[in-house]
Amino acid sequence: MITNQPKVDVVQGRKSPPDNNNKKEDHDTHPSDQQDVNDNHTNKSPRVEPEKDVHISASVNLDSLIRDPGARPSISSFPSDHQDEIRREYIRLRPYQLSKQKYPLSRGGPNGRMRSFQEVWFKSFWWLEYSETKDAAYCLPCYLFNKKPVGRVGSDRFTKQGFNKWKKVNCGNDCAFITHVGKTSAFAHNFSVRCYEALKNKSCHIENVTEKRVKELS
Ligand SMILES: [Zn+2]
Repeated sequence: MITNQPKVDVVQGRKSPPDNNNKKEDHDTHPSDQQDVNDNHTNKSPRVEPEKDVHISASVNLDSLIRDPGARPSISSFPSDHQDEIRREYIRLRPYQLSKQKYPLSRGGPNGRMRSFQEVWFKSFWWLEYSETKDAAYCLPCYLFNKKPVGRVGSDRFTKQGFNKWKKVNCGNDCAFITHVGKTSAFAHNFSVRCYEALKNKSCHIENVTEKRVKELS
């Protein structure tokens, strides 16, 4: 993991050396700019700044990122110029899909029967995460890219509060996971997924380019 850091940092320096806040805006507020985010990477490469890269690596310890979605701090709590680096690492680690022999039972309502999280849900919803500390479900793309916890009640259910009303899963069209995804690409979740894929693909490209350079130098 540590050996990957210089690769990531080098590209950060290439893409937007003076101000990474612009890059953050791309993810958070302008869905239509996603294509531009991808294109900019390969077409514009001003200069690499090695000294700055070393500084970034020294100040962000990617090894210490908290995996449990119920215990990790919000992305916005990290320094803005490190947030994409942290997003990349969470994407590389993939959704936190904790496998347990038994998940805790909880009662669904006043007279409801006992229910629990089901591991099989991970197969149907790739973005789904499970928090052991909160016994709740979360969404990794929305955690990484959704910055709208205010407004509609429950809009931060899969990013901050955690979802644990298990009786509302697998109940047809009212399934909470299906509702979270939404019916159109305009839904917040799908916007988050597009950002997720864009950054993921960019990271893959970075890896390939870096490997090629290493081979050329050796
Ligand atoms: Zn989501």
